Amino acid sequence: ELTINKIAAGEVVEGPFSVVKELVENSIDAKSTSIVLEIKEGGKKLIRITDNGIGIPESQVETAFLRHATSKITQLEDLESILSLGFRGEALASIASVAQVEMITRPADQPHGINIEVAGGKILHKKQVGCPTGTTIMVKNIFFNTPARMKFMKSTGGETTKISEIITRLALSKPDVSFKYINNNNIMFTTPGNGDLSQVILSVFDRTTFKNLIPIRGEMEAVKIDGFISQPSYARGNRSYEITFINGRFVKNKLIFQAIENAYKERLPINKYPVCMLSLEIDPKTIDVNVHPTKTEVKFHNEDAVYQEIYRGVKTALDKRML
Ligand code: ADP
Ligand code: MG
Repeated sequence: ELTINKIAAGEVVEGPFSVVKELVENSIDAKSTSIVLEIKEGGKKLIRITDNGIGIPESQVETAFLRHATSKITQLEDLESILSLGFRGEALASIASVAQVEMITRPADQPHGINIEVAGGKILHKKQVGCPTGTTIMVKNIFFNTPARMKFMKSTGGETTKISEIITRLALSKPDVSFKYINNNNIMFTTPGNGDLSQVILSVFDRTTFKNLIPIRGEMEAVKIDGFISQPSYARGNRSYEITFINGRFVKNKLIFQAIENAYKERLPINKYPVCMLSLEIDPKTIDVNVHPTKTEVKFHNEDAVYQEIYRGVKTALDKRML
């Protein structure tokens, strides 16, 4: 089928961080309002995700682990306007082929759930269990059957950093979902899930970084902006706190970075970068998105307008609210 063929069957499992990304995106797709992520040893030993979403009916549990033509995308236009990555129908299959996976899942309308274990692509067992509505998935010992890839994982600290980045972005992109992130039994953050982005920011980042947040909101010709920027005095030595989403999807885009940084320009010390969290809405028809599973690249048809509007929006907010 055309749609499916057009989607490159990419390498999904790059490491623990990509497992986290795929599984949390599945939980979001399943309409969860609460998602708990727990990792041990940078996700190399264990990644556990518990959601309260729609669950998987008993009859579909095994199929979910097969490579399939996902039902999440039906038309070519979907592909062009979709800015979510949960559309390839192969994440679970790929993950279960390189790790030991256990899933417990139950839809609300079924009296019992299913517990299934899959490792190295083989179903080890499947049985009915009592469990809450939603899905819990545990991924243990990633790359246990591919020693060469196991060797290439980073240290526990390195892998933890990558997972923290991913789960932070996902939490920021979904203020109406409550996220809890636990690393080796320590709660790293909990977000309230009440739709308030500023509360998500204060939950996931160290609060002093985002003191005196300046709200920014505006609807222009090409871009609708919503978010927060911080006082120039909270500038950082790199771009890791310069966080931007387009239509709900995390992006790193040079043009957008330049617009934001130039708006701050004379107010920032040399080699410092602003701290901000901007959620941008831009007509998907005017954006080209690289559909490679791991890429976050975008290109605008109207670069000038996008640049100017973001620049002016940020500059105006700063001018008005400088302390
Ligand atoms: P895709 O998300 O692209 O459809 P995946 O391999 O990621 O493919 O997931 C396979 C299927 O398993 C999904 O289409 C969905 O029906 C089901 N699924 C996976 N995770 C969950 C979850 N947390 N809650 C409900 N259903 C899920
Ligand atoms: Mg998926």
